[in-house]
Amino acid sequence: MPHNELRKDYLLDRWVVIAVERARRPTDFVKKEKTTVKADLCPLCPGNEHMTPPAILIYKEANGRIEKTKDEDGIRYSDWTVRCIPNLYPAFTPPTTKEKMGEKIFKRRNYALALGHHEVLVESPNHDEHPSEARISQLVHVINAYIDRLKWFSTKPYVRYVSIFRNHGYEAGASLSHAHGQIIATPMIPRLVKEELKASMKYWRQKGECVFCQIINEERQGPRVIAENSDYVAFAPYASVHPMEFWLMPKRHRSSMLLLTEAEIENFAKILKTCLSGLKILLNDPPYNYGFHMDIREKSTQHYHWHLEVYPKLAVWAGFEKNTGIYINTVQPEKAAESLREAIQNLKA
Ligand SMILES: [Zn+2]
Ligand SMILES: [Zn+2]
Ligand SMILES: [Zn+2]
Repeated sequence: MPHNELRKDYLLDRWVVIAVERARRPTDFVKKEKTTVKADLCPLCPGNEHMTPPAILIYKEANGRIEKTKDEDGIRYSDWTVRCIPNLYPAFTPPTTKEKMGEKIFKRRNYALALGHHEVLVESPNHDEHPSEARISQLVHVINAYIDRLKWFSTKPYVRYVSIFRNHGYEAGASLSHAHGQIIATPMIPRLVKEELKASMKYWRQKGECVFCQIINEERQGPRVIAENSDYVAFAPYASVHPMEFWLMPKRHRSSMLLLTEAEIENFAKILKTCLSGLKILLNDPPYNYGFHMDIREKSTQHYHWHLEVYPKLAVWAGFEKNTGIYINTVQPEKAAESLREAIQNLKA
């Protein structure tokens, strides 16, 4: 029996045990039955807009073009293509006029108001148009809407980071089954991103190169590559902490999605759909979370490189993980990549 391996993340001080001894085949994780969240009335479906706060951004299709607008003066549009609304139960909220904008955000080293924004992006008027199923044109609208929100947040002095993420399936925390993503703008840089920023800055200072560009070059030729198009590479990271985890990385060096071209947006939609379809076919629509890592601040443009991390929710983190921050992954990333590659091949066939 080969020995289990300890692997460290490319940049983070995060270790994972790749458990060969108790290794499981990716297909061991095939979802047996569907946990459906029964909603008699979906607040995110067209016609139910009154059940949500007014939309802050709406994409409407008019004569084959996208028109941008928002709900105002009691008007709720129902003929939208994409709809962005404030979360009903926000974790972060904007400053009130009393809490002056110019004020110091962190009142003490360990205390600040949870200033920011928390929004829901309804990805489609069609309840089930999840990215694995979506029309590419619809996914392109979704990504464009995220970029519009990023631009808006980048003008807010109290916003230092914007997290864009998606929970899919009840077990991954999606309380509504309608296709949607979330955006949370925070007054500080989250720990994982801060560690990536620090490590990539160090690498940049030492070698004058972007460490992520190096990772992409190596991974795209190796055993963990999953899919590739002219602008992106998808691969299972060397020290994946989740079974079947994969990342999507743009080949072109950029620290955020703010300056993506139309072609790059479309190619991102395509590789995202391909990989999520592969995962869906392989494991019978498993729950997952995904989240972007990027930095919209000017100062990170040279050394940071945006990407998307996809975490299928197939294992439970228990005592050891919670107690130590060391993870145990029962699927070798090389095996994960191989089965996702095959599933994607079968999609095309
Ligand atoms: Zn719905
Ligand atoms: Zn780079
Ligand atoms: Zn990352």
